[in-house]
Amino acid sequence: KPVTTDMRTLVEEIEKFAEGKKIEIDTLKIREEYRKDFLGNVSHELKTPLFTVQGYILTLLDGAMKDKKLRKKYLQRANKGVERLIYIVKDLDLITKLEAGELKLEREDFDIIELIQNTFELLEMKAAKKEISLTFDMEYPNPVYVNGDKEKIQQVISNLLVNSIKYGLPKGTTEVSVENLIKNKVIVRVTDNGGGIQKQHIPRLFERFYRVDQSGSRNEGGSGLGLSIVKHIVEAHGEKIYVESEVDVGSEFSFTLEKASTPPVSEKTSNKET
Ligand code: ADP
Repeated sequence: KPVTTDMRTLVEEIEKFAEGKKIEIDTLKIREEYRKDFLGNVSHELKTPLFTVQGYILTLLDGAMKDKKLRKKYLQRANKGVERLIYIVKDLDLITKLEAGELKLEREDFDIIELIQNTFELLEMKAAKKEISLTFDMEYPNPVYVNGDKEKIQQVISNLLVNSIKYGLPKGTTEVSVENLIKNKVIVRVTDNGGGIQKQHIPRLFERFYRVDQSGSRNEGGSGLGLSIVKHIVEAHGEKIYVESEVDVGSEFSFTLEKASTPPVSEKTSNKET
């Protein structure tokens, strides 16, 4: 049976089980299995876009190059394939570092509302292509200072938004909200009114390379790594990620964040001045 959960969870689970049963286990063997499984998945993910790119190049060499219109069309498609490969390799690089615990968080205080708005701007075109509107629901006024690795939290928001666009229905809506949870925490929710996810898939969604509908999801051009990256980043912050989904109604992914303990410098200065 292929090993699909992430390495640390897997080793921890097996060690706990073995301890209870007083069994000596060989973690090296598990690591080796895991490595093989990971490499198998990687080559599988890379094969499709590589063959696609090769297909366009071969067609061009076969004569399509002489036709000005076709030449442009096939070159553009080959380029799309290369873009997809770059995207997958970047995700692979990130997940490898995250799983090895090599990626250190660079924590700072920042305004989460501003970060969400910036991410909206980056994804506006992608959303517009499907006529999906990105909306923001605010419980209290700007700004909301939180503490975390700003760049990585942006990746979390971006991955969740990209999914809501990819798996959302045309002309649908994705709503992001930030709410107070407990005294020192906020919760960020990304809610879509897309096709939703069947119950049996929910526990496995955050596994790397896991996809609900292999062919459908692959058409959408993902790497199957988006949600596992999201989970790693959120958990590295010591926070939690949740998902609720209903078929034909939509999905809601949410995660917690720590509020900044002290007001930001600019606010302190302005307080002094007044
Ligand atoms: P992918 O690269 O395939 O998008 P992810 O790890 O980001 O990989 O997501 C895993 C799977 O979870 C997707 O293939 C898709 O089937 C499902 N999924 C994720 N987000 C949503 C969503 N908002 N609505 C419906 N299905 C989703």
